[in-house]
Amino acid sequence: MVKKSELIKALVKNNLISQVNISKAEEQANEKKKSLEFVLISKQLIDEEKLINLKASLSGIEYINLFSAKINDMDLNMIPNEVSENYKAICFQKDEKTMKVGLVNPDDFKAIGALDFLAKKKQLRIEYFLISSASYNHARKQYESMSREVVSALQAKEEDDKELIEIKEKEVESVELEEVVKSAPVTKIVSVIIRHAVDGKASDIHIEPLLRETRVRYRIDGILHTSLVLPKNIHYAVVARIKVLAGLKLDETRIPQGGRIRLLINDNEIDFRVSIIPLVDTEKVVMRILDVTKGAPTLEELGFEDREGKVIREQMKKTYGIFLITGPTGSGKSTTLFSILNLINKEGVNISTLEDPVEYYVPGVNQSQIRPLLGYTFASGLRTLLRQDPDIMMVGEIRDNETAELGIHAALTGHLVLSTLHTNNAIGAIPRLIDMNAERFLLASTINVILAQRLVRRICSNCRVKADLPKSASKQVYDSLKKTPIDVLKRRIKGYDVDKIQFYKGEGCPRCGNTGYTGRLAITEIIDINDELRKLIYEPDRPISLDDVQATQTFIDLMQDGIIKALQGKTTLEEIFRVVSG
Ligand SMILES: [Zn+2]
Repeated sequence: MVKKSELIKALVKNNLISQVNISKAEEQANEKKKSLEFVLISKQLIDEEKLINLKASLSGIEYINLFSAKINDMDLNMIPNEVSENYKAICFQKDEKTMKVGLVNPDDFKAIGALDFLAKKKQLRIEYFLISSASYNHARKQYESMSREVVSALQAKEEDDKELIEIKEKEVESVELEEVVKSAPVTKIVSVIIRHAVDGKASDIHIEPLLRETRVRYRIDGILHTSLVLPKNIHYAVVARIKVLAGLKLDETRIPQGGRIRLLINDNEIDFRVSIIPLVDTEKVVMRILDVTKGAPTLEELGFEDREGKVIREQMKKTYGIFLITGPTGSGKSTTLFSILNLINKEGVNISTLEDPVEYYVPGVNQSQIRPLLGYTFASGLRTLLRQDPDIMMVGEIRDNETAELGIHAALTGHLVLSTLHTNNAIGAIPRLIDMNAERFLLASTINVILAQRLVRRICSNCRVKADLPKSASKQVYDSLKKTPIDVLKRRIKGYDVDKIQFYKGEGCPRCGNTGYTGRLAITEIIDINDELRKLIYEPDRPISLDDVQATQTFIDLMQDGIIKALQGKTTLEEIFRVVSG
């Protein structure tokens, strides 16, 4: 067993992490009651493989990286599936005398006991290697590749296929149908679909009928990938199984239904928001995965840096006014709101939220899920909240005049209101609110800051290589850089020189599923509504332009921030052009 102090010493000595970062990580580990390793890895303060490699050398076990290992099925099956899952052990190689086993927890004596017993039974010697849990998970995917599982489930299913079609034609009562969906194969298919979505860090699952088959797509880092094709004849049963889990009506196929499923997956409680819509003669299912146990990331983790991060921190010291985040659906607005809430969540302030859906749980914050169908809307919720003596209110979205009016009223009466708005850029928020009948003079005195953001995919750090600037993008890139103050470029991009700009991309490797990307990053623009701008907003019929904004502050727009982040090697130029339109 490697002592924590020993590990810390070695990490610093080998320059794998700075003293400052390690102290910070230790603090967080104590605070969250997690292990130091967990914090280091989950906060990406260190490459997991490097950490495990170092740990291995300290404990005298050999280290191995299983990411590029092609493990053959026979070797893999030396350790039965359940044992592997239980003890996080993988047999990655075997010959007549020895089996080589990768272990995540070599200190787990129960695991060693069980594996030694297994090896003895087969009259083999066992050699242990230390592997990272990422390595383990990767190898396990090979173990029980999704298709293999589904194929076997489908084979079992074939036997009662006839019965199912008959049942469908007769349109039997829901009681009988429930019996059918309880049958193991469909249950298994649905749980495989769900578990793989969670393992693959998908945000949504789409189950949609096509002409001849049913397609299962996962949204990962914002992009839909087709992962699985199922025979069309089980679509009905799969949808029915999900309806049962979500407590929805089985026999209702004509109107949309929505529900929630809570499941325990890999020891994490995960919520699924289920939405079912009727198509011509069938139904489509979309499940949003809400891992409520994971905390919101910090502003730095999201990608707020330099002036943008500073403005937010300054703004959050204010005790009243409106903080707005704009962007299209899926631009990460609510994640940013939660990072900010975490920043200001302390005893002595009463924070209340109205959300749809609740995506993160924050201890100490009064979070409430709106239910428009029951008349509990953002507007009616706000009205109620104002009677609950809140200091800070988070309103999921300003969608209508009434919510806008109530939000402004709350801000005027000494509350801090955080909310989001559906506009393409930060400057668009003001005319949008005016369209919602908000009075200009009220906006002028309440809005503190407007932030716009998009999410781009982060380049996989494991396979990042240099990339050329495509000719077609060249003009836009140089124009954008020309508009950006040189001191900003020099501050944010190491060794910036306009004649030697360098972009990057991910080549694709096993760790990123050959996509070249892992995780996401926000690109942002922020308008600090200072006194000069307030005066301009106050003037009747005067549109506020970007020139107005730029005259009062160093404003970097989405494209500029994106190009800077591409030049920093965090994302690709393609991603920036994909998400920043126009
Ligand atoms: Zn990669």
